[in-house]
Amino acid sequence: MRVSTATTSCSDSHVFTVVVQGYGSAQESNAERSISVPFSRLQSLMQSISQLGGKVISVTAASDASAAPAAPAAPAAAKKATPTKAPAKPAAAAVHHADVPVNLYKPKTPFIGTVTENYSLLAEGAIGRVNHITFDLSGGDPHLRYVEGQSIGIIPDGEDANGKPHKLRLYSIASTRHGDDMADNTVSLCVRQLQYEKDGETINGVCSTFLCDIEPGAKVKITGPVGKEMLLPDDEDANVIMLATGTGIAPMRTYLRRMFEPTEREKNGWHFKGKAWLFMGAPTTANLLYDDDFNRYASEFPENFRYTKAISREQQNANGGRMYIQDRVSENAEEIFSWIENPKTHVYMCGLRGMEPGIDEAMTAAAAAKGLAWHELRPQLKKAERWHVETY
Ligand code: NAP
Repeated sequence: MRVSTATTSCSDSHVFTVVVQGYGSAQESNAERSISVPFSRLQSLMQSISQLGGKVISVTAASDASAAPAAPAAPAAAKKATPTKAPAKPAAAAVHHADVPVNLYKPKTPFIGTVTENYSLLAEGAIGRVNHITFDLSGGDPHLRYVEGQSIGIIPDGEDANGKPHKLRLYSIASTRHGDDMADNTVSLCVRQLQYEKDGETINGVCSTFLCDIEPGAKVKITGPVGKEMLLPDDEDANVIMLATGTGIAPMRTYLRRMFEPTEREKNGWHFKGKAWLFMGAPTTANLLYDDDFNRYASEFPENFRYTKAISREQQNANGGRMYIQDRVSENAEEIFSWIENPKTHVYMCGLRGMEPGIDEAMTAAAAAKGLAWHELRPQLKKAERWHVETY
């Protein structure tokens, strides 16, 4: 994607018009209304709209109230949003799909893997159960290989309520192609046990409970791998922004290991030189996943890796509510947007679908501050394979 890279400082004299639906007095009728605000109030208006359930239709730079006639050329922020068209696949940013294995094993003839380990990823006092589970893949013909960002299917043992075998569930892979032990013959998952209340009863998810309870030595039906949405670019100079909630961290762990784990760097001969920024959302500190590794990468590669946490039940956002990942994105929106302006930057999002509207709103405000329209830019990023989303 190419967007305006004109160096722009956005002063309060720049006024923005936000067209919003279902917000404020117009909420009940779902009517649209226009609100004009100076730049300094744009971000807080976006947050307020988001909290009250309004829908942002558009944001445009309305006027530059105080621009003196003798001032230099009008800043980009005061112009109407006219982003240039992105080339479909800019060479520098392309994600290589060649040689990515897909569906080596199908549900009718799954690979039978053996569990080698299964341990909790949570610290004392955490909410729920999240386990790291590893399967031995040796002996398969073909070998069940995969790359970072893909998923595998698991078919849990047993039958459903109709006496039929259970269907497969997809899980994002949490290990790199080499596996945690670098022996090229294991795959690991990061699984949260699904639990919910129904008619006063606690219901446990079939497959997630099967996996969290499984013992080393057990045999498990595995399918796949699948997925080309979340592949990493080959470019060592790429920049990578990662937005994860809970177990949505799985693909991000694979990217970060490939980028910063010394054994991975040596084995791959791929020496990441770009910048990576992880935003991680978890309910409590004890629920942070792979936190020690990420802290280690941040201290060993301070020029290349930033790690920002949103701990929803311990931290508060600017409005006193739970701190969610979209609040962190909103706090850093201008910087994130300037990263995105670089054609070498990729954004990866994995986890709860609920984070998407807030992230869009933060980006809408940041784009508008540069006179650009996010609703036009995002599809361009997607087309250029720089905006990668896997949310449930
Ligand atoms: P979790 O631990 O329950 O939640 C993670 C964090 O997200 C918590 O801090 C939670 O806050 C917060 N959160 C809740 N609602 C949110 C919203 N609307 N916007 C932003 N943050 C929000 O997460 P989890 O159980 O591991 O679930 C992660 C989700 O990712 C699941 O839906 C899972 O199916 C999905 N997932 C998807 C993929 C994939 O697409 N490939 C892979 C793995 C996981 P509070 O609970 O404090 O409100």
